[in-house]
Amino acid sequence: MFKANFAPRFILTGTLLSGLLWQPSVLAQTLVHAGQLLDAGSGKVLREQTIVIEDDKVTAVQAGYLPGSTVIDLRNHFVMPGLIDMHVHIASQTAPDRFLRRFTNEPADFALDAVPYAEKTLMAGFTTVRDLGTAYGLAQSIRDAINRGSIVGPRIFTAGKSLATTGGHADPTNGVNELLRGDPGPADGVVNSLADAKKAVRARYKEGADLIKLTATGGVLSQAKSGQNPQFTEAEIAEIVATARDYGFKVAAHAHGAEGMRRAVAAGVDSIEHGTLMTDEVMRLMKKQGTWYVPTIVAGVFVGEKAEIDGYFSELVRPKAAAIGPRIKETFGRAYRAGVNIAFGTDTGVSPHGDNWKEFGHMVDAGMPALEALQSATVSAAELLGETATLGSLEAGKYADLVAYPRSPLDDISVMGEVALVMKGGVVFKDQR
Ligand SMILES: [Zn+2]
Repeated sequence: MFKANFAPRFILTGTLLSGLLWQPSVLAQTLVHAGQLLDAGSGKVLREQTIVIEDDKVTAVQAGYLPGSTVIDLRNHFVMPGLIDMHVHIASQTAPDRFLRRFTNEPADFALDAVPYAEKTLMAGFTTVRDLGTAYGLAQSIRDAINRGSIVGPRIFTAGKSLATTGGHADPTNGVNELLRGDPGPADGVVNSLADAKKAVRARYKEGADLIKLTATGGVLSQAKSGQNPQFTEAEIAEIVATARDYGFKVAAHAHGAEGMRRAVAAGVDSIEHGTLMTDEVMRLMKKQGTWYVPTIVAGVFVGEKAEIDGYFSELVRPKAAAIGPRIKETFGRAYRAGVNIAFGTDTGVSPHGDNWKEFGHMVDAGMPALEALQSATVSAAELLGETATLGSLEAGKYADLVAYPRSPLDDISVMGEVALVMKGGVVFKDQR
């Protein structure tokens, strides 16, 4: 479980005069003494720093170990901003009976199952996640319960229900028999016209989403034949993007095949998720448009492994998992070398919650220096999220979200699995020093 460190907001330090007058109060400070501190923006590792925290924010970072009454001693640790995962599904996790459970579970069953998923995510050092698709408004409810303090988990920005076309990757009735299939529309995230595109985005606003996710091509785990065919017209995607802008929403596009990817990038989406069969032409277009790439290598590796187990996936899904999954890592290496903007993302919920950190090892393995991998999960992710004012680095005015490790992950990236301490909003949730 977690250990909370609630610093009182105000400490009355003055003298009681004549029983009437209190002297002005001062803010309670927590000081973090960091032996090594990653300045995520510059990429420099600073030695012997003090992070000054008041309430839920950082107010200063200063050289040397300042004295104070509340000190968290991380002089023997590597400290960095809390990690940000730009692609999770907080309310689900792959299992052989996952498809069946859509028919047997109540929405509340999914919500209750998700409570430990959120906690594991935070304990793994991920203080912020972008949820890219859940049904029944689950991620919004989980987000709000975390913000209320009812349950423990990361800050969540959610797309709510993903958008698809009829039979597309996020059509909620794929693979369902004729009696149950129906004809879902924009309220359920299914779009087949420009009018539907507008309505589907507005429905996400109404359901309390923070951004938009669309499935520009087929996908691996849906009960459908193709994992890579284009599934939206460019005009439909452009209409989604234009409507999303009215609501301040960013747009994330799931895509495995190159044509769907090309349409999504040309139509102005903010990020391509997975990007498995990305061509050099798509990479050039992404660089020109400033589109981000969120690779999710660990999900590809996971489904590739499970495809070897008889009966784990349906016979429709199994060949897609075997063919598409293992290719993401190689694509990521090419995209990195080509200079495409990369933000860290795992598609966790495909792979188990709490294993998000394993993505770092795959990124380094594919050719990205460890420092850049850490930046992809901090400053770069905050930029794609549009939250650079509050997240992504430890600087005055930003949230006191940090994670500490016993050694520097810049020397050995597997250290990312050895989280010693997690603080979110100035509160310590994990302390295993
Ligand atoms: Zn996903």
